[in-house]
Amino acid sequence: MTFIQSDIFVNLSYILASILFIFGLKMLSSPETAQRGNLVSASGMLIAILVTLAQKNIVSYEFLTIAIALGLVAGVLASTLVKMTSMPELVALFNGFGGIASLLVGTAEYMNQVDLNLIKLIAISLTVLIGGITFSGSLVAFGKLSEIISGRPLILFGQRIVLSFLLVVSLFFVMQLVINSSASEESIIGFFNLSGSTTLFILIGLTLVLGILLTAPIGGADMPVVIALLNSYSGLAASAAGFVINNNVLIVAGALVGASGLILTNIMCKAMNRSLSNVLFGGFGAITASNQKDGEIKGEVKPISAEDAYLILEAANSVLVVPGYGMAVSQAQHVVRELGELLEENGCEIRYAIHPVAGRMPGHMNVLLAEANVPYDLLVEPEDVNPSMDTIDVCIVIGANDVVNPDARENEGSPIYGMPVIEVDRAKTVFILKRSMAVGFAGIENPLFLKENSRMLFGDAKESISTLVSEFKS
Ligand code: NAP
Repeated sequence: MTFIQSDIFVNLSYILASILFIFGLKMLSSPETAQRGNLVSASGMLIAILVTLAQKNIVSYEFLTIAIALGLVAGVLASTLVKMTSMPELVALFNGFGGIASLLVGTAEYMNQVDLNLIKLIAISLTVLIGGITFSGSLVAFGKLSEIISGRPLILFGQRIVLSFLLVVSLFFVMQLVINSSASEESIIGFFNLSGSTTLFILIGLTLVLGILLTAPIGGADMPVVIALLNSYSGLAASAAGFVINNNVLIVAGALVGASGLILTNIMCKAMNRSLSNVLFGGFGAITASNQKDGEIKGEVKPISAEDAYLILEAANSVLVVPGYGMAVSQAQHVVRELGELLEENGCEIRYAIHPVAGRMPGHMNVLLAEANVPYDLLVEPEDVNPSMDTIDVCIVIGANDVVNPDARENEGSPIYGMPVIEVDRAKTVFILKRSMAVGFAGIENPLFLKENSRMLFGDAKESISTLVSEFKS
């Protein structure tokens, strides 16, 4: 055994890799350091992989090379072909891959039947349980986000009872797997005589059904929570897999993903003023159709041309830009920054209000505005700007819809009632830039569009803002 294969070298390298992960994560919290943070974490992972490969000669390098090549091709294709607006679907899919990878590791270790002690058996069962739920749940989330299946919550009759029953049965099979450590020998389970491997495969089937049943009832504006939660599950499954194959750095990396996913889930729940159990079992949007009539929408649509909007903007002293998913679709962030600079030159105070669930992934708007070099100190959170909203001359809502819906405050029957929103309707004038009167992701009507002080600037956001920019320049 050489020095680089010794336990001391391997464990020191794993500690170094873990430190790099933690610093990388810390750096991701600010747009200025985020790119470097990514590189720092990636170098930690490179160290972990190289040291693991050098230490153990148990893997077949032929298979490994093929796996790495396939991973490289998939990664390069995903990063070049997938559009920025489709990133959430990709993240959902990656979470699923993490889940299935952990499940396969657990299954292979159980079938190999090498050194199966109590800790390892518990770890294998957890890897299979969490990995299976993460895999099928992530596929459902992927289907909903990419609109392959309906984004609305799917609530079956007696769903909670079936779910609770399956959960109990799964835990029973988990216990059986821990008790019966032999893949081939049979033991009595209820009325059946099942071998360890059959128990394992039934457990896998149960976890896949559980993942579907847990994710199907979630939809509409609650999707950010489920993505963050599945991300956390994939980390927990990886951490359990670390115990299965006795790999310290996998335990640490999985725990970091699990913990950060949970923190993000909590942030998303707070952003929507919902408890986690309410998100998981509340069935967002299932009540929409019946309750929407409570907040009957009154008023008329008042379109405005870019030329007229310019005249109002030119006289404004304070402007608040509220970006949403439509800004990402039209890739308007660069012209938005240009408009902001022109307004500033005109003596106007300009700020950008970012809602935590605007867009389709956490931090979506921050990333786009940072890419366009919008100064970070001009970004404000809803709770900072809402109290002084009535002093703002113009709010420019760029492709945002759900995150500015006043029904969240005014209509108790609305599925988003209670969710903190950016209260743009309280500003003196509101320009709403979108292509039509269509609903947003949550699929609910928005009375903002019909308010007295609202003006609809119809068209692609980038084109509308480019026209405003040209007006300012001429
Ligand atoms: P939204 O409610 O989905 O509304 C986006 C609006 O953009 C649409 O009404 C659309 O109207 C408009 N739009 C689309 N393309 C456009 C273009 N080229 N130019 C101008 N407008 C365009 O978006 P949001 O206000 O940002 O709210 C986000 C929603 O997504 C929330 O419900 C949130 O819960 C959910 N979600 C968020 C995440 C996350 O992590 N951030 C993840 C999953 C889901 P037209 O079609 O009429 O143009």
